[in-house]
Amino acid sequence: MTGFNTKLVYGKGLNQLHDNETGAVNVPLYQSTTYAFKDIDGFNKYDYSRSLNPTREYLEDQIAALEDAKHGFAFASGSAAIHAVFTICQPGDHIIVSRNIYGGTFRLINDYLKKLQVEFTQVDTQNLQEVEAAVQENTKAIYFEPIDNPFMKVTSVKAIAAIAKRHDFLTIVDNTFLTPYLQKALTLGADVVIHSATKYLGGHSDVIAGLVVTNNEAVAEQLYFCQNAVGGILAPEDCMLVIRGIKTLSVRLDRHIQNAQTVLQYLETKSDLIKKIYYPGRAGDESDAVAADEIKGYGGVITFELNERVDPKRLVNGTKLIWLAVSLGSVESLIELPYFMTHAELPVAERNKVGITPNLVRLSVGLEDPEDLIADLEQAFAQASK
Ligand SMILES: *Cc1c(COP(=O)(O)O)cnc(C)c1O
Repeated sequence: MTGFNTKLVYGKGLNQLHDNETGAVNVPLYQSTTYAFKDIDGFNKYDYSRSLNPTREYLEDQIAALEDAKHGFAFASGSAAIHAVFTICQPGDHIIVSRNIYGGTFRLINDYLKKLQVEFTQVDTQNLQEVEAAVQENTKAIYFEPIDNPFMKVTSVKAIAAIAKRHDFLTIVDNTFLTPYLQKALTLGADVVIHSATKYLGGHSDVIAGLVVTNNEAVAEQLYFCQNAVGGILAPEDCMLVIRGIKTLSVRLDRHIQNAQTVLQYLETKSDLIKKIYYPGRAGDESDAVAADEIKGYGGVITFELNERVDPKRLVNGTKLIWLAVSLGSVESLIELPYFMTHAELPVAERNKVGITPNLVRLSVGLEDPEDLIADLEQAFAQASK
């Protein structure tokens, strides 16, 4: 068994790379739709690339290895991956969903799953009593993000999975914010883990991709059915970009976390302009205890709420190095206003209920020199504050 970083570089195992005669140190890009049969009656593992492609297979085996999972699946986007997982639901099923989830996931549940007669209840997954109270006879699964977005609140995978096991339903986790480097949710009791590989796993803002891992055979069968029958698979070139991104995952995340700490220290000096900072593990953060033995670090996303002395739109229009853009987890730093951008999918009432106000700023700290990021924020604050 090899260590985590070795798996980042080599995938499931060294021998997987040695399937070519050239000695190429990278898995080849199998840009082929179809595969010749050796024999009409023989076993042909590869026949058509929607069903299986060797480059995709490398990535799927790799994410499974990184998560200590039996099965890995690559989809054309995080959203396609989430949709594929939700196809385990039948009309009449019920799911419990965290109140703070990715806007696109909420849209998928509220505008699409509901039409298929899948009911849902939204709860605060930090509140275990609320989770218990939402359980119904027809509850099929609970869906949440162990670090939520944008408030970076931590939910215990162990605690939720214990409730789910007791009532015999599935625990589904979107771990885009943590990646298997910072949390292996299957080992904590989750049944299914989803990643938007568009974020930290890809890491360079150059590929949209989704990954799913599971040890549950029935779920795995359904996910493969989705790949093969629905066809939202990740193309081989995009698989290559994710494989390449994954090689440096731990190095990048260590630096994202380190830079985030430096930027946090700066933001803490701005108490005249910032009402509240959201990042777990800070002194006094109540999320800390829940996460302590489940998470290795909290990544590079920092959210903060401005007070009335700062014009939020002028602040985000005013950064010069930090891009005004959605997404996160990439080498370049990105800033946005969730109310107007990432969370605009949520109805206004829902945004108000969870506290996503127009004054809320989300910053994804990249890999630039933190001094340059701080200088950029400093000049933007100067422009935007009265
Ligand atoms: C971006 C994101 C998604 C959606 O992934 P895409 O690759 O953009 O389709 C899902 N969940 C979370 C937490 C995300 O940040």
